[in-house]
Amino acid sequence: MLEGKVALVTGAGRGIGRAIAIRLAKAGAKVIVNYNGSEAKAMDTVKTIEEAGGEAWAYKCDVSDFAACGELAKTVLEKYGRLDILVNNAGVTRDGLIMRMSEEDYDTVLDINLKGAFNTIRHFSPAFLKQRAGKIINISSVSGVLGNAGQANYSASKAGLIGLTKSVARELASRGVCVNAIAPGFIETEMTEAMSEKAKEAVIGSIPMKKTGHAEDVAEAAAFLAGASSDYITGQVLCVDGGMAI
Ligand code: NAP
Repeated sequence: MLEGKVALVTGAGRGIGRAIAIRLAKAGAKVIVNYNGSEAKAMDTVKTIEEAGGEAWAYKCDVSDFAACGELAKTVLEKYGRLDILVNNAGVTRDGLIMRMSEEDYDTVLDINLKGAFNTIRHFSPAFLKQRAGKIINISSVSGVLGNAGQANYSASKAGLIGLTKSVARELASRGVCVNAIAPGFIETEMTEAMSEKAKEAVIGSIPMKKTGHAEDVAEAAAFLAGASSDYITGQVLCVDGGMAI
């Protein structure tokens, strides 16, 4: 399915990014496993892929650093000669009510979640244009679609990602590059582990399917958007959320 393709997944040492990296490798892609703080976990993602007969390579880069993303693109394009699939998954939360939210918490979330995706797209888009093919997948959130009290910074970054997705989709469409977003709902990872049981129960109550999702659910959607089955789909937001955003 993805044999001969080269994929980069940001924040792929753990959580949803790890599941996407493993899923794309299972489909035959060579995967660059980006990480920032979790080196051992990124190595473990690589090991898991290699043990299953796939090919992967770990690369440390803070996606919020424009110049570092430039180096990442240069290194990847020198090593593999191309990039077919770019998954902007790296993301953080710094939740708090707007009245009490610090400027630093706002900036950190916007810098990593939104500018991080701009940084990679900006540096890889010349290669995508030259190839006249490619898939860019941005991991947004149901919070970016609906908004969420206590997550003004996070929701702004994820809604911004949707705008970025639609604009870049329009820019690159005539060159055969598809740009889509996935908006996961409540997925069980370290990001959601921090929530209290009470808060979790309240969220689950708001999900029409009355259950949480798993990283693998998001990975399946990413595999679809990375493959040829979605070649006529661009600028869309695919909600993987048990019906939360209906
Ligand atoms: P997670 O387990 O907390 O993982 C976050 C990932 O982002 C880690 O791999 C981390 O890498 C990476 N990351 C953070 N800052 C980075 C930076 N500056 N540069 C590079 N990588 C960085 O979270 P998750 O649940 O898997 O979330 C993955 C994505 O899905 C995020 O964009 C999140 O907003 C989105 N999402 C999650 C949910 C959910 O319910 N879990 C719902 C909607 C959307 P290091 O550890 O190496 O720093």
